[in-house]
Amino acid sequence: MAKTIQAIRGMNDCLPEVSGTWQKVESVLRQVVASYGYQEIRTPIVESTDLFKRSIGEVTDIVEKEMYTFEDRNGDSLTLRPEGTASTVRAGNEHGLLYNQQQRLWYMGPMFRHERPQKGRYRQFHQFGVETYGLDGPDIDLEVILLSARLWKAFGIEKHVTLQINSLGSNEARQAYRETLISYLKERADKLDEESLRRLESNPLRVLDSKNPNVQAAIADAPSLLDHLDEESKTHFDSLCERLTQAGISFEINPRLVRGLDYYNRTVFEWVTESLGSQGTVCAGGRYDGLVEQLGGKATPAVGFAMGMERLVLLLTTLSEDALDTSSADVYVTAMGDDAQAYALEVSEHLRDTLPNVRVMMHCGGGNFKKQLKRADKTGARFALLLGSQEMQSREVAVKPLRDGQEQQTIAFNALSSTIADLLNA
Ligand code: ATP
Ligand code: MG
Repeated sequence: MAKTIQAIRGMNDCLPEVSGTWQKVESVLRQVVASYGYQEIRTPIVESTDLFKRSIGEVTDIVEKEMYTFEDRNGDSLTLRPEGTASTVRAGNEHGLLYNQQQRLWYMGPMFRHERPQKGRYRQFHQFGVETYGLDGPDIDLEVILLSARLWKAFGIEKHVTLQINSLGSNEARQAYRETLISYLKERADKLDEESLRRLESNPLRVLDSKNPNVQAAIADAPSLLDHLDEESKTHFDSLCERLTQAGISFEINPRLVRGLDYYNRTVFEWVTESLGSQGTVCAGGRYDGLVEQLGGKATPAVGFAMGMERLVLLLTTLSEDALDTSSADVYVTAMGDDAQAYALEVSEHLRDTLPNVRVMMHCGGGNFKKQLKRADKTGARFALLLGSQEMQSREVAVKPLRDGQEQQTIAFNALSSTIADLLNA
């Protein structure tokens, strides 16, 4: 036998047993963003490597060690996108969507990072994100956060996620804070790990969110970013906090929250859960007013977030078994005898004509009723239709409930689609 070929480590197949859940998640996401007037943008999966280096930052986990970078046949350096914001800005600049305009956009699709695969962390994963442009007030920061909060409600998981926010201030204020932080960290250099030491000069803010508990303990009394905000950023942040309270969104201010990508300024936030172990951040975002200009456009304020869809699906299926809908049909059509098969086809097509949202599966491959009903049960269908020569002659259909122990009933062909619609909605 030939050796079987396996998928790349950390890159998952989405099998039929979960693809139904994914489709439902995707449709809720689409519906919620549409209800806020956001429009979809789709960008290529491959971009020039420079795009990510220039936006995400050279001294970040992503650019230092996580990118899938390769040379194409022309010798150009290309990278599989590790996130969606850089591509959105690139496309916005390229097509004139951002210059003097306001945009509210969303995207969804696969991202690639060469990380150590574990629960909630993969090498190909999916993000759903929103990005807004041309708006600098805290009203849009609030809207973006409200939108994310509505998503949790739509999925019924609002009690399992909490919001953490922080402000990184302006670039100038952060620069001044950086100096203060560097001298603080230098005094404790002997207690820092190798990674933190390496970042001390190049990206000291990232030392603040080190995952090493020893480092965390050593820098417990580090000066707080929030005490070093410029006046305007402070007003912006206070106003956002006030609006969140008015909107009934609870939040925690976490002065250590700095985010792993360089392009953020002012508002940053994360939605975290305790139900997924260490991969607890489900959604993360913030303001990135400098990025559009940094990538060659005119200075344009921007704010957005990205959500890890695998983590969302994991959370949904961890919290409720019902979230996993593995059924493939609502109605399963069985038939005995050659004549009845033609009738079964007529019935099935009639249902598909009149009830396009109902999943109708017609039995193929013959066998007795018992065998056919066994198949029907396996599909998860709620009703089986039983068609024999008698039903065909009288142009009737026997409807057998498969799930809730109700009585079988025989109804006229003409009443079939309204009866099925009622039964499925009941
Ligand atoms: P983490 O600290 O978990 O590595 P990050 O800061 O690298 O996250 P972002 O780049 O902000 O994450 O991505 C936004 C969201 O995408 C994360 O909050 C997470 O839900 C999801 N995500 C990021 N990397 C992965 C991955 N390798 N596998 C699955 N989901 C991921
Ligand atoms: Mg990461």
